[in-house]
Amino acid sequence: MDAAKEFARLSGALFVDGGIRPSTATARKAVIDPATGLKLGEIADCTPAEVEEVVARANAAQRTWWAESALHRSEVLHEVARAMRRLKPQLAELLTRETGKPYKESADEVDWSVTATDYYAELGRHSHGQVLGPAVAGQMHYTLKEPMGVVVVILPSNFPLLLFVWEAAAALAAGNAVIVKPSEYASLTTLKFMEAFADLPRGLVQCVTGGGEVGRQLVEHSDTHMVGFTGSVPTGQAIARACAETFKPHLIEASGNDPFIVMPSAPLQIAARAVTFAAFMNCGQVCTSAERIYVHTDIYDQFARLVVAETAKLRIGNGLDKVDVGPMGNAQERDRFERLLAHAVEQGASVAFGGERPEGFSAGFFHEPTVLVDVTPEMDVLHGEVYGPLAPLCRVSSFDEAIELANASPFGLGATVYTTDLVETHRAAREIQSGMVWINAPILDNDAGPFGGRKMSGTGRQLGTEGLDTFRHTKLVMVDPAADPQDFWWFPYSDDEAWNKR
Ligand code: NAD
Repeated sequence: MDAAKEFARLSGALFVDGGIRPSTATARKAVIDPATGLKLGEIADCTPAEVEEVVARANAAQRTWWAESALHRSEVLHEVARAMRRLKPQLAELLTRETGKPYKESADEVDWSVTATDYYAELGRHSHGQVLGPAVAGQMHYTLKEPMGVVVVILPSNFPLLLFVWEAAAALAAGNAVIVKPSEYASLTTLKFMEAFADLPRGLVQCVTGGGEVGRQLVEHSDTHMVGFTGSVPTGQAIARACAETFKPHLIEASGNDPFIVMPSAPLQIAARAVTFAAFMNCGQVCTSAERIYVHTDIYDQFARLVVAETAKLRIGNGLDKVDVGPMGNAQERDRFERLLAHAVEQGASVAFGGERPEGFSAGFFHEPTVLVDVTPEMDVLHGEVYGPLAPLCRVSSFDEAIELANASPFGLGATVYTTDLVETHRAAREIQSGMVWINAPILDNDAGPFGGRKMSGTGRQLGTEGLDTFRHTKLVMVDPAADPQDFWWFPYSDDEAWNKR
């Protein structure tokens, strides 16, 4: 594949009715390679008429899709997974060029998209409801699972393929149509990804590009029936408010500010590698990045030295080369991160490693992975999402204090604890207020287990059986095959059951 030609072909396009075609929009946004600062292409701000067309086509395709057997939907979704696997080298290269993440992380993202699609291909035909013990003898009481209709998926740029599949594969398996509005910073790769869905009926999966206004039109459209959103808190709130107007069901996966606790019983060398990975994977632009690292005072100094040593080993550079850490996604994000870091230093934190733009990079949006020590609980850096390459280490005097600080946050996405103490393990699992708790296994996902947050990190769940139900209605059906009179509660009421029996 010639990436330049591929980006040119996808530039200014939308994916509608089973094919790529140029948008009629005149408004365009340049797509910049975060590693070089060079223009890769551009995306269209799709027009209201284009939004109308994809919504109409999605509704028509959804009716056909839901009329098929569950086995048929399963077989087609397995074909989609196979197509993703075939496209892996091309998708991974484009993803690295467009978002900056190391090629290995892009390739992993395609692999994880495949397993999630295969998982939902099977889960979608497993059960469409349950038979209940009847409340009345002779009757049949059961539930039916039905699709929402047309699901709008609105995405950020950090895992554009995986986060799409976590919602789209579940939504499709549940019988829905899907319209995706990708991030402005990952739209061209998402358009390429649409090729993997070619075996689906035309119009069942479509992609419109553009900014928040295009997303807003899709969310507010009277013929879209559910919204799956992943992104920042303010946008999540705007979407939840818009959905409240018509009680449109919505899934909100918003920001995180995850704690990472290290206790003296932990294998410190491994915990140091773990925190380095959890803080700097995808240049720290992961919703579940380790962002508040609470280290027991007995091991704090030793642990800080180990984290610095691990961080010093990381190779920074263009994600297509032999590197561990690429650039940040765009210039504004790097500027925001640098302001946040400078403020932490003003408040008294010390830079133990990094802290600068790396030498030797005149272009691109690189920043050194940075380790902060002397971080104290009240500092602002521990109270908002960092979303950049930072590992702030805060000293705690006990496990109780670590748990208390972990919970003293408006966010509740994930949490990691390094310990080999059984009591601490089970206390952490029970007491931390978050959607996921990882003990000695940071930021791992499992297609079969639910993912999602509490508090300001969002509502609802993706993945697992919960993640299928997110995209389905549950309908209760009650049948009396004999059509008997239901005299145990119908009119006329018996005089014996009146309060005044006189
Ligand atoms: P963002 O909120 O700025 O944008 C997300 C998407 O929303 C984009 O596609 C954008 O165009 C769209 N959008 C903006 N305004 C809209 C509106 N009014 N109506 C509809 N759509 C609108 O987020 P971002 O900066 O792209 O992403 C980073 C954030 O995503 C971080 O906070 C990160 O933690 C979060 N995130 C969360 C998870 C999770 O699973 N909880 C996963 C990945 C990223």
